Amino acid sequence: MSIYSFQQLIGQERAKTILRHSLERGRISHAYLFVGPSGTGKRTLALAFAAALNCLADQRPCGSCRNCRRIDEGNHPDVTVLEPEGRSFKIDQIRQVQQLISLKPYEARSKIFILDGAEALTEQAANSLLKTLEEPPPYSVLILLADDSALLPTITSRCTLVHFQPLPQETVEEYLRQRGIVEAAEIAAASGGSIGKALHLAEIWPEVSEAVQTFLELVRSDQAWKINAGIYSRFKENQEFRRYFLELCEQKYKTTSVSALTAIHAAREMLKANVGPDAVLRSLAIRLAGDQRSAN
Ligand SMILES: [Zn+2]
Repeated sequence: MSIYSFQQLIGQERAKTILRHSLERGRISHAYLFVGPSGTGKRTLALAFAAALNCLADQRPCGSCRNCRRIDEGNHPDVTVLEPEGRSFKIDQIRQVQQLISLKPYEARSKIFILDGAEALTEQAANSLLKTLEEPPPYSVLILLADDSALLPTITSRCTLVHFQPLPQETVEEYLRQRGIVEAAEIAAASGGSIGKALHLAEIWPEVSEAVQTFLELVRSDQAWKINAGIYSRFKENQEFRRYFLELCEQKYKTTSVSALTAIHAAREMLKANVGPDAVLRSLAIRLAGDQRSAN
């Protein structure tokens, strides 16, 4: 997504208002903490804000000046985006930030560091970052992006907090429809209000959907023994497939059968208790088929 304007980011009106007011009043904090589920636009808005801070036009961000364009392309020398190395932000990465931040901007007004995945700061790295938060150079802006609030309170208290909310299901559905995605409703329901997750789901959904359809047809016609090895092996090997398989089964029974929903819930519990996935799927098929028989 390009950074042409805040409006292009869907939803998050409160977050946009906070940042817009900051810009209009020229009261920019040295540190922001964007908190909310992944895929709700934190990084997009952080980049738009970085562009607005350094844009050369009157209407900021304009999207077309030299600074806006280079930020959009990811190669502005004064805007740095960092992600955890492996599972966490290491202290060396924070030291690198501290070194770079101590140098004045090359050409822009502000020098911006975006730490995407700040929930993955190790305690050591977080403590090191605190020093920078306590005495930031006047031209620097740090933007931490985190998916929950499991951050050190000492960090949280030094940042301007900007909350990102899960998007309404209809908004996600509409977004997917506009992109020609057929199963927009089902995907939106499983997306948890995250556009990022919805787009990822859209890629694996056809496979999940086809498997669930075959599975339920066989279960409903009392031929669960015909469920093919392909479905079992996908269910066994791929945790994500399992999760959305059960999620979609649940959607199919949502308004029709309480006992089917109980069986799906039981399947999840069995998986949590480390029962083998193929045994879980077999047991689910048997329960759903039994359910079907007693309903007929
Ligand atoms: Zn611009």
